[in-house]
Amino acid sequence: MDYINDFISFVREQYNTDKFIPLHEPRFRGNEKAYLLDTIDSTFVSSVGAYVDEFERMMEQFTGVSKAVAVVNGTASLQVSLRLAGVSEGDEVITQALTFIATANAIVYNNAAPIFLDVDLDTMGLSPQAVRNFLEEFGELREDGCYNRFSGKRIAACMPMHTFGFPVHLDELIAVCNKWQIPVVEDAAESLGSYYKGKHTGTIGLVGGVSFNGNKTITSGGGGVIISNNLDLGVQAKYLTTTAKRPHPYEFFHDEMGYNFRMPNLNAAVACAQMEMLDTFLADKRMLAEQYSRFFKGLGVNFRTETTDTKANYWLMCVELNDTNERDKFLKISNENGIMTRPIWTLMTRLPMYQHCQKDQQKNAEFLEQRIINIPSSVR
Ligand SMILES: *Cc1c(COP(=O)(O)O)cnc(C)c1O
Repeated sequence: MDYINDFISFVREQYNTDKFIPLHEPRFRGNEKAYLLDTIDSTFVSSVGAYVDEFERMMEQFTGVSKAVAVVNGTASLQVSLRLAGVSEGDEVITQALTFIATANAIVYNNAAPIFLDVDLDTMGLSPQAVRNFLEEFGELREDGCYNRFSGKRIAACMPMHTFGFPVHLDELIAVCNKWQIPVVEDAAESLGSYYKGKHTGTIGLVGGVSFNGNKTITSGGGGVIISNNLDLGVQAKYLTTTAKRPHPYEFFHDEMGYNFRMPNLNAAVACAQMEMLDTFLADKRMLAEQYSRFFKGLGVNFRTETTDTKANYWLMCVELNDTNERDKFLKISNENGIMTRPIWTLMTRLPMYQHCQKDQQKNAEFLEQRIINIPSSVR
């Protein structure tokens, strides 16, 4: 741990400040204020407005997807994505236990239950091999899809999460899921600007969700987006998130139970200004990651970098320490010195509402849970 003081000086140098350095703070150096004022002047501050449409177009262009639908937050984008994939009451959804709580909650909001499977050590995301092993043991193909022989329930979707913006092994995962007729819904909440084999994350499975919360790579205050290359699903996403109202100049007729999950135009104004900065932000984060990488290499500490065939957005950067003892010291000393660092999430399988869910061994998830910490990653 002799290196911790060097780490503190290194981070202070990067951000050029003696004050507290948070893990990830937003930067508003573009048109945010101008677009917000424009929104207020227009009176279109709420659920319809030009910035919502503009933001959706910008997302479509950036990710190369057929349809993007702006929603109120990332959690809502995942909830609706799962429903679009066909998840309904009594179903089950395969996901990882090493994730932020929203992944699991989005499943339960559809009255479905999560099955927690292990992650890969390299990506920290859902392991195709773990999914293959689970389905070979418990999967049963019937006319209307894949069933779990343990619970008797239908496995209606598989939702991998691209941890900290590092893409999971999607080709392998999608191949296993195709074999068992399980649609893949990507939790791309953390991975705006991350690519797998040249394709943007969130656009490779059937449908995906992205978050624009205050601590993400870019923010709209709160917000999310549903993205899909299936145009019909995209249209359905817009319809469901805007109360499932039949289009009509003045009559109100709703075909099914939809949601008011629209992103307000005020938030979309900020989102548009942030989208204009995205390439600059990504370039700076990549440079910071290179500097961290060089710094930690000299110390023999494993700074996590992108895996082959992927490009990561370096949303939250992280190091893997040797054991919990080293991790706890690192956390204590850095935080005491005003440099925010944080352990990776507590596994979902340890939380009161999820500890009874079906799970596998969690060998890699537990290994990473004990060793990974996040370090300051804001754009400088
Ligand atoms: C941030 C995040 C979400 C949800 O985003 P909100 O916009 O905060 O609702 C979902 N999943 C993961 C993995 C996240 O990190």
